[in-house]
Amino acid sequence: MPMPRPTSLRMDGPDLVIEWNDGTVARYSPHRLRALCPCASCAELRSHSTDPPSPDRFSNVTFRQVTPVGNYAYQITFSDGHNTGIYTLDYLYRLRNLE
Ligand SMILES: [Zn+2]
Repeated sequence: MPMPRPTSLRMDGPDLVIEWNDGTVARYSPHRLRALCPCASCAELRSHSTDPPSPDRFSNVTFRQVTPVGNYAYQITFSDGHNTGIYTLDYLYRLRNLE
């Protein structure tokens, strides 16, 4: 499979909307991406939980900043100050159907 690439990225209300080069338009809510933060400490927390990550826990979280990292990822800063998650394009693409 060719590497998925965003052709556009924009904010729509509280959500991040990414248009992918295969024509898929995906909407990402901040609480969903916050719950699925790929950083080591969040992954560690999730590994100790038998429950799936609950976006409800982060229902008040919003996006503060979305910064490109090289050409393979975005670093996302959330309103709760958390910013250690590097969301690779591959990871975001895999999450495109979650909501
Ligand atoms: Zn994290």
